[in-house]
Amino acid sequence: MSRYWSDIVHRLTPYVPGEQPKITDLIKLNTNENPYGPSPRVLAALRDEAGDDLRRYPDPNGDILKQAVAGQHGIDPAQVFVGNGSDEVLAHTFRGLLSHGAPLLFPDISYSFYPVYCALFEVSYEIIPLSADFNIEVDDYLRPNGGVLFPNPNAPTGCVLTLDAIEGFLGRNRESVVTVDEAYIDFGGRTAISLVSSYPNLLVIQTLSKSRSLAGLRVGFAVGQQPLIEALERVKNSFNSYPLNRFALAGAAAAMADDAYFQQTRRAVMKSRAGLTRDLTRLGFEVLPSAANFVFVRHPAQDALELAGELRKRAILVRHFAQPRIDQFLRITVGTDPECAALIAALEEILKD
Ligand SMILES: *Cc1c(COP(=O)(O)O)cnc(C)c1O
Repeated sequence: MSRYWSDIVHRLTPYVPGEQPKITDLIKLNTNENPYGPSPRVLAALRDEAGDDLRRYPDPNGDILKQAVAGQHGIDPAQVFVGNGSDEVLAHTFRGLLSHGAPLLFPDISYSFYPVYCALFEVSYEIIPLSADFNIEVDDYLRPNGGVLFPNPNAPTGCVLTLDAIEGFLGRNRESVVTVDEAYIDFGGRTAISLVSSYPNLLVIQTLSKSRSLAGLRVGFAVGQQPLIEALERVKNSFNSYPLNRFALAGAAAAMADDAYFQQTRRAVMKSRAGLTRDLTRLGFEVLPSAANFVFVRHPAQDALELAGELRKRAILVRHFAQPRIDQFLRITVGTDPECAALIAALEEILKD
């Protein structure tokens, strides 16, 4: 605390990211990073970028990346906004599209950055409880609102909504922007990008951090009709004209273009998820059905926080949320098969005592 702080700083409760330990021989299943490295074409693009041109500013519009995203999804580059991680894209969305008189609606159990941005941008909000089985019930969002925001698949539950459910909701909520945060969509859901042309109030946000193995590069994007994208551009250009540096633009464009590598690694993660789910179930865990690169699990006889502590002693990190309704759950990122096997072996040892 300091008297030099702006008023709002006193009122902030900043987001706390999952631990990024400096020790290297840990099995890190706590922040939903991809267990596989980025495409070799990304690494080549980054090497090509390391040259004299670094003295020059990057393209403020990120056109090569917008084109790569548009090419993958069969849309117009003018319908794409790019940012420094989808967290930044979300920030501009809060500022540019979700800040109105009526409250923003999002699920009670969801990405914990949302309430943080609400505080920073002074957006009023209402949380809508998930159903007893931890699903989003879209009908619960049919009430006066200044915007609707949810991840699909949801985090940290992994539960996915069908495209039909989303479209049904869009048909009945036309007055405010509906933002679908698709950070995990490539691991089992269907993207709502195909609905953008029919719904002028739909914004779809994706990231290259998870399914494209580029959390370290910080790249995310949004897809929507031009007026929504223009709002984001106006906010971005009032904040930072160059959010994506030359490496981020070149690496991300190369990642979007390498579809074969993308398909191969996302399929490997989905296959490992099936095996991990089977093994955890065998050990007595309840595993929520996951369409993401993590599973959300609880054990009927073991305290979740204690379990996380025991795993940590064995150099395995998982994520626990000290939050109502889910404090007996652990979120476990799907690792490589050897990492999943090490997790299962550690759990077998812990549960035996
Ligand atoms: C990881 C994640 C993000 C943030 O992704 P970045 O692009 O790395 O900022 C956004 N939303 C959800 C739900 C996430 O899990």
